[in-house]
Parts: sequence; structure tokens; C-alpha cells
Amino acid sequence: MTKSLNELSIIEAASALRAKEFSVRDLWDACANAAKERNPELNAFLELFEADDAAIESAQKRIDSGHAPLLCGIPLAMKDNILIEGKIASAASKMLANYRATYDATVTKKLKEEGALFVGRTNMDEFAMGSSTEHSAYGPAKNPLDTSRVPGGSSGGSSAAVAANLALAALGTDTGGSIRQPAAHTGLVGMKPTYGAVSRSGLIALGSSLDQAGPLTKSVADAKLLYDVMKGSDPLDATTITSDTYTKKEAGATLRIGVPRHLLAEGIDEDVAAQFESTLAALEAEGHTLIDVSLPTSGYALPVYYVIMPAEASANLARFDGVRYGLAERGGTLLEDYVKSRTSGFGTETIRRILLGTFVLSSGYIDAYYRKADQARGVLRAEYDAAFESCDVIAFPTTPSPAFKFGDKSDPVSMYLEDIFTVTANLTGMPAISVPMGNVERDGVSLPTGIHFTAPLGADDLLFRIGALVTGETL
Ligand code: GLN
Repeated sequence: MTKSLNELSIIEAASALRAKEFSVRDLWDACANAAKERNPELNAFLELFEADDAAIESAQKRIDSGHAPLLCGIPLAMKDNILIEGKIASAASKMLANYRATYDATVTKKLKEEGALFVGRTNMDEFAMGSSTEHSAYGPAKNPLDTSRVPGGSSGGSSAAVAANLALAALGTDTGGSIRQPAAHTGLVGMKPTYGAVSRSGLIALGSSLDQAGPLTKSVADAKLLYDVMKGSDPLDATTITSDTYTKKEAGATLRIGVPRHLLAEGIDEDVAAQFESTLAALEAEGHTLIDVSLPTSGYALPVYYVIMPAEASANLARFDGVRYGLAERGGTLLEDYVKSRTSGFGTETIRRILLGTFVLSSGYIDAYYRKADQARGVLRAEYDAAFESCDVIAFPTTPSPAFKFGDKSDPVSMYLEDIFTVTANLTGMPAISVPMGNVERDGVSLPTGIHFTAPLGADDLLFRIGALVTGETL
């Protein structure tokens, strides 16, 4: 059966464009029309952009000239917290409902230079806080594989858009799992680069020491392609790294896969655990080695994350004060201006995190909470570094369960537990990928699950290599 144009991967579309099987305009129309049709139901996009005729024509010319990069003419979806000059970037918050970006994020600029096109800006949890997209101020996005279930979060609009073939691929941001977890819940590949590998300039900041932008794609090859375009040091982000910041250990012809068995003993659905074991067994059968690794501090990763992340979020969100950006409500005094603007601009989860963050940074508690969490973060990183002495990558399931139903995790702590396997990569800065590892059944519906690999700092390419072994791609 031949695929519709919008069902193609980036690599497939790029080669068909070069073979003149269809035009850039045809490809744009296929995505834009699918998006117009499906978006009212899925709420994957907060806004669909009009066709940019000049960009479409110029992409076609570059392809016709025979010198176009692979991303040229490819329709992508952009998370609503990544700036595109002249477009609204609201981070799915009422606070920024009318905020129009005055410049391109560095990643946007790089994608534009390649000739990529943007279908629209995607729904997300407000300011990227959440694991389901239910915290969006504009209603949740739905999982196209089962619309009674979440598409994951916070980049759930991006995952829904790609899984429903409304764009060929999408950008997300990941502070504690927000690219990898929605990828797992929608059957996609999602990758969080090494901290500093991709510029944060032009991202609406959440946790500045944790945030990275990255790809959500239909294949590992597409994820690698987007990553290679986005990466690189940037004078606008002093935390970006260069290719020689980290010394690379060379992995051998077969890989040593670390499996922290002690973390997998409980809390994972039986059929998800079974998919994980059979994926590992298949890798072992191909000659790769499984090694039991111990990461004793991992049990604390979630509480450590939920101290550090709200602390940084509360500092970053202080700029939304009703004066400088976004919503401005007026009271009788300056203090009333702040209180009114922030009370009506922020949703419940955002307010909860600001309160939590302000508390852990307050003078009586900073040593007990924030500084302690920061120390534990150092221990976690040392443990991972030590584990990587004996293995090349570390594997676990991306999430303990497949996509859940709307409202199932209305208790904040149960929602935070969704991130149990993903937050450590952000705390350590290490790169990580989620790749589909097979489906499980819930209520008669077949739902995807993801396997998660973490690699040492700077070893991002190794993740594409192991990811392709799981999907059976040749890169
Ligand atoms: N779910 C996590 C949180 O709520 C991660 C969010 C993210 O990665 N942006 O903080």
C-alpha cells in the first residue's frame, strides 16, 4: 500500500521530492489539509499557519537546483514555547496569549536556513509543566491512537501532530522527559540532546539547567537528521558546548547495554516489562551484551527533580509580572498589578510549582531542600559516570505504563510519578532517546510503549546507533 504524502518520514519525503514524485506544494498541502481536518478533534495545534508561498517556492527552487539540504521543503510542527519571529508563542498559557516573538530561536533559524516549513505551533502543558498536556490553558491535546487517552506531555501537541501525520516531524522541549514520554505514548522516536548540545536561545525558559529542545519523529534517521541541524555552539547561549567539550569513549562493534535491574523490580506494568525484556533479548541475540548496573541514588531522582525544577521555574517565571510581558491586569497599586496579572494569567499547576520553588529557595529552607537536592544531583551524575565505565548505554522502559486516560492522574503526585525514568537524564545533563519497543493492549486498543537509552555526556550519536538497532533501520 502506498503511503499518503503526509504519512512519509522526512527521509522518504526528501528522496521523493528529489525524484520529482510530487512537489513541495503537494507535500505542504497534504499536511496542511490533514491538519485542518483532524485538528478540531485532536487539539494538537494551537494555531495552524497560512502557507508561506515565498518559502514554498524557494524550497522548490533549491531542490530543483540539486543543492538542497534534506530538510528543505519539509513541513514541521513547532512546540508553542519555541520562538518563530512574527508568530505568537504562548507556551499554552493565558499569560502569553498575545505574545508575538520578535526574533527566531536559534533552532528556528537553523531550520529555516535548511528550508524547513512550519505547519503550526503545537499544544503543550502550560510552560511545559506536566506529562499529559492536560495543563494547557487551551484544553488538552488528544492521542490520535485513542482519543480517550493523553498524547503524553508536555510536548503532547507535537507528538499528536506527528503521530496523526499532520506534520512529518516536530520539535519539542524536554526538561524532565517532555520529548521522550510523549514519544513513547504515541509510537514515535523522541530524543533529548546532551545539555548544551542545542542552543536554548529563543526557548521560553522553564528549568534553565535542565531544558533542551529536540526532535519527535517517525524514525531514528529523522531524529538524527533534525539533531544534526539543530546542534552546535551558539554565542547567544553561553551554556552551549562544542564537539570537544566531552572526551568521547569509543563504543565497540557490539554494544554493552547496562540494565539497572534494581530499578525495574516494581511499579512497571507486566506487559510493558515483558516488551522491555524481549527488546533486550533481541539485542542480545544480535551479539550485544547486557550488563547489570547499579544506580542506588536513582530512587531519589524524582524528589530531587521536583525540588530543582520548581526552584528554577519560579525564578524564570518571575519575569511574567504584568509589566514586561504578556497579560497586564491593573489594580490600585503596583503590588495589586502583579497579583492580579499573575493570578489570572497562570494555571493551577504553574502556581503550584511557583509556590513550591519559592518555598525551597526561601532563606529558612534553601539548605535543607535546594542545596541538598543539588548535592544529590552531583551524586547521581557520579553514579552514572561510574556505570558508564562498564557499559556504553543504560536502558529502561521510558514510562511504566502506556498512555493513560484523561483525568486518571489528577492527583499531582501520581502525574509526577510518570517521570520516574526520564528526569535523571536532565539532572545529569546526559543525552537520552525513546524508541518504540512494541505495543500492549488496553481496553481492546493496541498502544505503543517506548524503550529508553541514556548515553554519556556528548555521546548523542550512540543513541541513534542503538535506536536504529531497535527499529531495524540502517543509518
Ligand atoms: N513532566 C515533567 C514536569 O512536569 C517534565 C516536563 C518537561 O520535560 N518539560 O516537570
